[in-house]
Amino acid sequence: MKRNLEYIIGLETHVQLNTKSKLFCSCKNVASLKEEPLPNTYVCETCLGMPGSKPVVNEKVIEYALKVALALNCKINKDFFFSRKVYFYPDLAKNYQITQYEIPVGYDGYVVVNGKKIRIKRVHIEEDPAKIVHKKDYTLVDYNRSGVPLLEIVTEPDISSAEEARAYLFKLKQILEYIGVYDASTLAVFKSDANISIKGMERVEVKNITGLKEVEIALKYEMLRQKQQVLQGRNVARETRRWDETAKVTRAMRTKEEEEDYGYILDGDLPAVKVDYNFLKELSSKLPELPDEKLQRFVKQYGLKEKTAESLISEREIADLFELAVKEGISVKEAATWIGRVIKKILNYHATSYKASGFKDEWVIETIKAYESKKYSDATTEQILRKMFEDSLPLKELVKKYGFKEMVSSDDALKAIALEVIEENKKAVQDYRTGNEKALDFLVGKIMAKTKGSADPKKARDVLKEVLK
Ligand SMILES: [Zn+2]
Repeated sequence: MKRNLEYIIGLETHVQLNTKSKLFCSCKNVASLKEEPLPNTYVCETCLGMPGSKPVVNEKVIEYALKVALALNCKINKDFFFSRKVYFYPDLAKNYQITQYEIPVGYDGYVVVNGKKIRIKRVHIEEDPAKIVHKKDYTLVDYNRSGVPLLEIVTEPDISSAEEARAYLFKLKQILEYIGVYDASTLAVFKSDANISIKGMERVEVKNITGLKEVEIALKYEMLRQKQQVLQGRNVARETRRWDETAKVTRAMRTKEEEEDYGYILDGDLPAVKVDYNFLKELSSKLPELPDEKLQRFVKQYGLKEKTAESLISEREIADLFELAVKEGISVKEAATWIGRVIKKILNYHATSYKASGFKDEWVIETIKAYESKKYSDATTEQILRKMFEDSLPLKELVKKYGFKEMVSSDDALKAIALEVIEENKKAVQDYRTGNEKALDFLVGKIMAKTKGSADPKKARDVLKEVLK
């Protein structure tokens, strides 16, 4: 038995788009909200599937889908229609889901992940079903989610590890955020189904993995499970499994239901869609600079190291903040350090994004400017930014609230403190006068302690030397 097994992974990801209303009715799209609403509060006869109700397609969803297909380097189908995927389950009251089966909006695209091309097989629009809530003795249905616009983005089986799957999803999420069709600060989710097989073996589908980190965990589990089967001399059975997020295991669901098992029929309620060539051209020309291009430009234009540029472009809003800071006169070096390193560190620690945080561009820029003009020390500036994140207040208010000390920079103030230190540390002064340079470090340390770190150490050293002459 070969020790290193080769894994073949493909992902089908469902992304809830952040349009204002649902896909086929004017109900509010609950995925665009920040807080979970009460069950069954955003519903109408269409998303409840009542007989006689008629769906009307939300044009914004088509626009978003086209933008995604363009951003993922897909070919575009300019004529498409909607189909009904027929199945009987209470999460869709009308007993079918409106989706695109025969002709997707986009196909044959790719995403570059760590230098490797992951091919995109198709991008299509479909409606989200309702949410089923299983209780001990009964089951509830929440139709708020019924009709929420989804994009299904399917890769070719080009992914070869759990880490790569996560990196792909990170990139996908980043692109969708850049073009403004997905917002991580809302209830909208990324849900993936994964197809995993060991080369030469049967394929297993793992359903219902939410988020990015979870995909990595689920795939690692499933790969190990399949490997053990193979090592025990058994074949991996072709099946569909479900990811149990609580137990962190995959569980067998049912024997594989082929796509063809579903009845797909044309949806006669919805007209075919014709995408106007000029509209598509305009969409394409209005696409913002995408992460890969921005990364290259940042490296070239600002002379940044690739790793620093990567951190700055991780979120569009952070990249914009960096460029604004530089435009406003902050040096590239300080802007990159404070935004790409310190602010990113604060956001990562709280597992949030700049967009969702309480930071405001002008507050951050004002703070970095104050640092550059030597008003605040390194440590104080970092403290200010931490508090700015926590309290969502401008610099002035934070100084008022926490009494952040300005750097002791005037020569007179420093001289007065130096004289105090000299008076209190006669032995060190003596040592310094007899040629022990290290004693000077000690005295500088005393000044730093007295000023609670708010003196410029180099300046403190100069002042001490001057006074001790
Ligand atoms: Zn509705």
